[in-house]
Amino acid sequence: MRYSDARKASRLEVVLDTKPYITCQQLIDFIMSYLDNELPDDQRAEFDRHMAVCPSCVDYLKTYEKTVLLAKAAADDQVPAEVPESLVQAILAARRKA
Ligand SMILES: [Zn+2]
Repeated sequence: MRYSDARKASRLEVVLDTKPYITCQQLIDFIMSYLDNELPDDQRAEFDRHMAVCPSCVDYLKTYEKTVLLAKAAADDQVPAEVPESLVQAILAARRKA
């Protein structure tokens, strides 16, 4: 897992870098626009910069994407409601951790 080293380094960079990283909360606020490719280039760059150093947000994004795909599949194929709901709970759990 090369992310863990990057994360340790990032902790120092947050202090030393004059330009701070966005927070996990800000990233989560942007996530829908990010997936819809609606973010301006500078915000998208900030999003990617945070993702590069924050494994928990990488996991969050993966779970989120899966949920969006399942939700779309559910809308198309009438998948039982329990399937997306369990993933919603997983996202809520991940959000509490972040
Ligand atoms: Zn994060």
